[in-house]
Amino acid sequence: MSVTRGTFLKSLGKSLPGMVFGGGLAGAAHKLLGQMTSAVNAPASRPMPKIKFIECGPPDGNRIALTFDDGPTPGVTDLILDELKKRKLRVTFFMVGQRIAAAPDLAKRVLAEGHEVGNHTYTHANLTAIKDQEAESEIQKTQDIMAEKLNHRATWFRPPYGVLRQNQATMVARRGMGVVLWNVSSEDWSLPGEDKITSKVLAETTAGSIVLCHDVSQQTANCIGPILDGLLARGFEFATLSVLMRQPRTQRDGNPDVRRPRQPSREGGSARRAEPEKRSGEG
Ligand SMILES: [Zn+2]
Repeated sequence: MSVTRGTFLKSLGKSLPGMVFGGGLAGAAHKLLGQMTSAVNAPASRPMPKIKFIECGPPDGNRIALTFDDGPTPGVTDLILDELKKRKLRVTFFMVGQRIAAAPDLAKRVLAEGHEVGNHTYTHANLTAIKDQEAESEIQKTQDIMAEKLNHRATWFRPPYGVLRQNQATMVARRGMGVVLWNVSSEDWSLPGEDKITSKVLAETTAGSIVLCHDVSQQTANCIGPILDGLLARGFEFATLSVLMRQPRTQRDGNPDVRRPRQPSREGGSARRAEPEKRSGEG
């Protein structure tokens, strides 16, 4: 555990009431504070629906979903796209709204090359540290910029740092999106070096894994080729999140890769229900 991670953990503890944890250090905090969290999550007047947080896909088969957060980043996302294209692989990008506004053509390229695009808020806000009204705006503004610049409607949302309050998860569900976390973190956000990023992903990925990376740094761009080749050599099949979860990719266009869609009507936004249990990472 680095100092950075410890500091992050402490900052999570400060914003405890009503929040839901996601990801590694968040996972540790969740274990420590789980009972307190459920106490503050108890309904006040009316029951709040439990929203399911997806952390991995079905372990049957050999599909995995690579995900890239915080872009698009000119000079990095392009390189990652090139490596994916060479190998004809599709992944998922959780984009920050203001970065789409700054680089709309790069965001368009991501979609044009068959990747999935999800919502990662407008300014990469820690939703547990802001008012609900602001959180709603963070979520909606990104939906709006995607509609305007990309003609796209996201069906997946990933909260920055993997944390959000239960009522904020309801805001997400109301907009027809599911909340997606991860179960493998590359830790590339901490810039540990290409070898460490690569070996961590290759060591921890199993069938059904949702792998967290960030299309922000040169380190990630430099090691994405070896990561892709290593995962392919291990027999994994790459899928977008919707394919991994066997859903159409967007509400606008169904995904031809989906051979046997299960309950396509579900996509309209009903809250997925399950108990959240958190894993590793940073978001
Ligand atoms: Zn992020």
